[in-house]
Amino acid sequence: MLKFEVVPVTPFAQNATLVWCDETLEAAIIDPGGEIDRLLKHVENKQLKLVKILLTHGHIDHAGGAADLKARCGIPIIGPHKDDQFWLDGLGQQSRMFNFPEAQSITPDQWLNDGDQIGLGKSILQVLHCPGHTPGHVVFYDQKSNMAQVGDVLFAGSIGRTDFPKSNHQDLISSIKTKLFPLGDQVQFIPGHGPNSTFGEEKRSNPFVGSKQFG
Ligand SMILES: [Zn+2]
Ligand SMILES: [Zn+2]
Repeated sequence: MLKFEVVPVTPFAQNATLVWCDETLEAAIIDPGGEIDRLLKHVENKQLKLVKILLTHGHIDHAGGAADLKARCGIPIIGPHKDDQFWLDGLGQQSRMFNFPEAQSITPDQWLNDGDQIGLGKSILQVLHCPGHTPGHVVFYDQKSNMAQVGDVLFAGSIGRTDFPKSNHQDLISSIKTKLFPLGDQVQFIPGHGPNSTFGEEKRSNPFVGSKQFG
C-alpha cells in the first residue's frame, strides 16, 4: 500500500508530496518545488529509500528543486508530459521572476503519457494526462489507497489558473470532468496548494465544475 505525506514548500506553500510503499519503503517525491533539505529530513526520519522524482507540471513552485534533488540523490526525474518542455526550459527565468532561488532548466529522464504506470516498491501509480492549467500537466493516482496527487488541476473549492501561455480553460474543465471525476467520488486528492478534498465533494460543491451552480 502507498502512503502519502504532504510537506508544503516555497513561498507559494506548494504541497510537495512524499509517497512511499509501506512494505519496501521505496519512496518518491512529487513536485519538489524547493526546500530540499527539509524534504530530505522527512525522508530520513521515516527511513525511506528515495528512488524517484515525479513532476506534475513545469511551474517553478513544483519543479524548482528537482535539479538540486536529482544531483544530491542521483535519482531520475520522471514527468511531466513533454508538452511542458517550454516551462521546464524557462525555470531559470521563472525563478528570477518570482524571487525563488536560482533554478536551472531541466529535461526529465522520462516524459510521461496518459495511461503510463510508475512502479514504486510493490505498488503502482497511474498517470493521467490532464492538460489545461499547463499543456503537459499530469496527475498521479493510486487505485489501492484511493489517493490522487492532482497538482494545479483541481483544488478544494477551486480549479487551476488558465491565464498562462498555452493554458486552456476548456481543456482544464474537460480534464477534471472526463479524467478525474470518473475515478470515483470516494477518491481523496492532494492538490498543489491548500487542503485535501475528494472528487465527490468537488463534483457536488465546486463552483467551477460542480453540479451546484452559483450566481
Ligand atoms: Zn502551476
Ligand atoms: Zn502551483
